[in-house]
Amino acid sequence: MTEAMIERIVLATKNNSIAPAQLGAWLMACQIRDLNEKETLFLTKHMIQSGEHFEASKLRVDKHSTGGVGDKMSLILAPCLHASGFVVPMLAGRGLAHTGGTIDKLESIPGFNTGLSMIEMQENPCFISRQTDQIAPTDKIMYATRDVTATVPCIGLITASIISKKAAEGLSKLVLDVKCGKAGFMTKIENARLLAKSMVRVSKSLGIETIAQITSMDEPIGNMIGNAHEVVESINCLKGVGPQDTMELVTMQAEALGCDVQTVIANGKALQCFKEMCLRQGVNSEVVEDLCNDPWSVLPKGVKRHEITAKTSGFIHHVDALAVGKILAQLGAGRLHPSDNISHGIGLEILAKKGQEVSKGETIAYLDVDHQQDVEKLFADVFEISPEDINIRTDSRLIEVVK
Ligand code: URA
Repeated sequence: MTEAMIERIVLATKNNSIAPAQLGAWLMACQIRDLNEKETLFLTKHMIQSGEHFEASKLRVDKHSTGGVGDKMSLILAPCLHASGFVVPMLAGRGLAHTGGTIDKLESIPGFNTGLSMIEMQENPCFISRQTDQIAPTDKIMYATRDVTATVPCIGLITASIISKKAAEGLSKLVLDVKCGKAGFMTKIENARLLAKSMVRVSKSLGIETIAQITSMDEPIGNMIGNAHEVVESINCLKGVGPQDTMELVTMQAEALGCDVQTVIANGKALQCFKEMCLRQGVNSEVVEDLCNDPWSVLPKGVKRHEITAKTSGFIHHVDALAVGKILAQLGAGRLHPSDNISHGIGLEILAKKGQEVSKGETIAYLDVDHQQDVEKLFADVFEISPEDINIRTDSRLIEVVK
């Protein structure tokens, strides 16, 4: 397709002057044939131009993750980047199916406004807010049609959808976390690599310094999964007491953007930037202090705590992230449908991770919910315990870097 043809499709989508069936047919053609490099770039460019965008600046940086279970990096990374002198205009989304969303996590903080206007974003040096109707407006329409026409998996369409929204932020640098594994958006490395290469290529063509990190998404990230639960773990990370796997991902992403997280965490600047971001986004100052001193004093938590115990003695060989994500979504921590309401206080605290030795009957996790649940049955297949030591206590999640 020529650039003019693609521009016409984008404009007609924006103006609602293309019949839904016609748009669906075009998307299916893209899905079957995929888009070549030029077509993907043209589509991305015109999707950006169809809406408003921020002026580019050397200081503006961000990250995008294709999403996973326990993926709370944005909450930690944004204040760390700002503490290092960067401007962070982070537009984020809600969770769907087994994956959590940054916006849902932040909405567990009382008073946190995730719906900033373009004007409020303009002058803000570090925010995390929802996508607005003004930024890449065609993406919303196209995505809704893709969702009902089985055309979500097309690499060219995914690239244009993700990069148009990020490029509209006016970035100079972008790091992409492409999750790969059974709880990731891409389950096969070949597809994760194709997506990473396509996004890096288009983003660089738009003048953004970009790097993609393909990371494994088979095990949950960190020890806390659920909305409020992940806020608690993020604050721990900002205080320098976060789990190793979570800090590995944050450190890698920050380094790719030229930020040293160890320094800004150790000197307290990152936590201070997190507090200031909460204040700018509407959280009352007392709530902010309480949130950082004793998070559970202000965050919602399921009133019923269930203990999950090891069925046998041995070593944890696998914690099934996909199963965890699905169980939590079904219990109400996530959405099965985009219009579902969620319960921010439902979550899981994992005590035993991959590689760890456990004894029969030992508590390996806590589930916080509002009602009595049959946890034995629910979690029967989540923790895989075997007699042999697999020696993977310092397992890295990084699979591959694409530049
Ligand atoms: N996330 C997006 O924002 N768009 C896609 O097409 C896929 C994942």
